[in-house]
Amino acid sequence: MPAPAVGIDLGTTNSVVAVSLAGRPQVLSDGNHGPLIPSVVSFLESGERLVGRTARVRRAIDPAHTVASVKRLLGRPFKSEEVRRAKSRVAFDLKEGPDSSVVVSTRGGDFSLPEISAMVLREVRRVAEQGLNQRIDRCVVTVPANFNELQRSSTKIAGRIAELEVIRILNEPTAAALAYGYGRGTREKICIYDFGGGTFDVTLLELAGNVFEVLATAGDTFLGGDDLDAALADWLVPHLLRTTKVDALQDRVAYDILRDAAESAKCALSTQEATTAEFVYQPRKNADPLRFLHRITRAELERLAAPFVSRTFDVCNEALKLAGLKANDLTAVILVGGSTRIPSVRQRVASFFGRDPLTNLPPEEVVAL
Ligand code: ADP
Ligand code: MG
Repeated sequence: MPAPAVGIDLGTTNSVVAVSLAGRPQVLSDGNHGPLIPSVVSFLESGERLVGRTARVRRAIDPAHTVASVKRLLGRPFKSEEVRRAKSRVAFDLKEGPDSSVVVSTRGGDFSLPEISAMVLREVRRVAEQGLNQRIDRCVVTVPANFNELQRSSTKIAGRIAELEVIRILNEPTAAALAYGYGRGTREKICIYDFGGGTFDVTLLELAGNVFEVLATAGDTFLGGDDLDAALADWLVPHLLRTTKVDALQDRVAYDILRDAAESAKCALSTQEATTAEFVYQPRKNADPLRFLHRITRAELERLAAPFVSRTFDVCNEALKLAGLKANDLTAVILVGGSTRIPSVRQRVASFFGRDPLTNLPPEEVVAL
């Protein structure tokens, strides 16, 4: 049997690969680690390179050589606002490359952004080949609806470097609508609300038969779950200082560990009313590890998250205005992105659009499916 083409959601934070077997789409997993492949590459001192799950844990240990969230910079000029903002936020080094492109400079060498994306795609391919026990060489890759030609061609170049033939580039919101079974004849206008790790995107689609027309798309490339992690970490800083004397604002590694603790707590609070954030830190080699535990309630997280969630609706209003539509003109709202697991996000989406959003499919997997 010829190898099937796989569908790849090459995400800012996580990538996911899916395949259609006997007409049924399903995500592929790395053993029992689940389907999310962190879009992270870490360059070790030994010269070795880690990609995906093993690279992600190095964000807090070796942030200067652990490269993440490059997608929002793909195909953007070095002097753009996005690159300037990213430079002030990330610990790895971004330099200007040929034709005002962006180059990531690491101890493992300098790499273009398509080269970094290709490293992630190779890992995605490995997961797919292991899951299917078959060689894979063709794929469909999804991109945000607002990606321009340069960003789309950079995505194709990444595929080529990874020796994958990209047979089609598909818009992420269109992919999500297909996964929910749209595109079989109904004529309606729907909304795809995508709140991921680093970015927020909203797209209004008009469906007519199997044609998906983008009526409007709007987004914020610096609005996502990462902001919630940082807000919660910032809120924990004074508590940590009081209990352990560690000032995370003066200690990058401590802050990154605190942020990881905040993210775990945030995710737990989507299904629990309260949880305990756990911070374990060894300030120096051979020093005793410090342990800090702090109880957080869902209400506290929701209060910290509220201003960020509000910003997503400013973006929704922008898209509605562009399309000349009102929130209740839409006949369905599809939730995409891990941050839409937060109960208050779901509630606020429901009240903004005046209808319950579709949530049957896992929001991190729906685009790949
Ligand atoms: P992206 O599209 O940016 O690649 P994802 O859709 O995988 O990313 O979303 C990643 C974000 O979702 C992260 O910020 C992560 O913390 C957040 N997330 C994942 N699961 C949950 C959860 N249960 N509750 C809240 N946030 C979650
Ligand atoms: Mg995504």
